[in-house]
This record gives sequence, C-alpha cells and structure tokens, in this order.
Amino acid sequence: MKIQEKVGKWRRTTDAKGFAPNFDLLCPTCDIKLTLRTSELMHMKRSTDGFSRVFPCLKDMYKCVSCAMTWWFYIEPPYMTEEYWAELLKRRNGFMLYVPTDDWNDDKIIQQRLKDLGYWGG
Ligand SMILES: [Zn+2]
Repeated sequence: MKIQEKVGKWRRTTDAKGFAPNFDLLCPTCDIKLTLRTSELMHMKRSTDGFSRVFPCLKDMYKCVSCAMTWWFYIEPPYMTEEYWAELLKRRNGFMLYVPTDDWNDDKIIQQRLKDLGYWGG
C-alpha cells in the first residue's frame, strides 16, 4: 500500500501529540518507521464557491532518520474539531508547536544521528 492511500487512518491520542497513525508509518525508500519531528496547531483558510472558510488543523511533520525524507500530514475536519484543537493547546501548555523530544531520548537511531551531527547529551 502506498503511503498516500493510508492518509486518514489516524486515531486520537490522550497525550500532547493529539493524533497518531493507526498503522506503521514507513519510509517508502528505507522501509523503516518515520519519526514525528514537529506537530503544529494552526488554522487554515480555504475558499470554495467564493466563500472563504477558516478551519482548525494539525500539521504533523514526519522524517526518516536514515534518508531524511520528509512527510507532512494535515489533519483537518471532521477528524479535527475546534473543541479538540483547544484541548490540544491546553495539553501543550499554550504552545502551538509541539516537539516530541521525550520520544527521541528513547530512540537509539536518533541518539546516534544527533551524536553524528555533533550534538551532545541525550
Ligand atoms: Zn528513508
């Protein structure tokens, strides 16, 4: 199955991430699991039939630690609602941008990549 065909199969989480894929999000090239790099709450504006509409959106950026390929996922209504958007902002202590650094601490490949790039610590 191509990665594009899986979009939409996401579930809500109980943590600050808000959504997680309901399947293994694999890099099409390397066949390894993609890592959530950033997750951003935003409002999008779209015009249809001359009427513009603003709606809540979650923009997730996933990256492959091996080849650095980047994927963006936009979670929009009906999966995202204004109520859930506000709930996520609360879970993120008022920050729109969420960076899951705690997840990275547990990941050996990411730790090695950070070391290779010259970052200290873990
Ligand atoms: Zn890759």
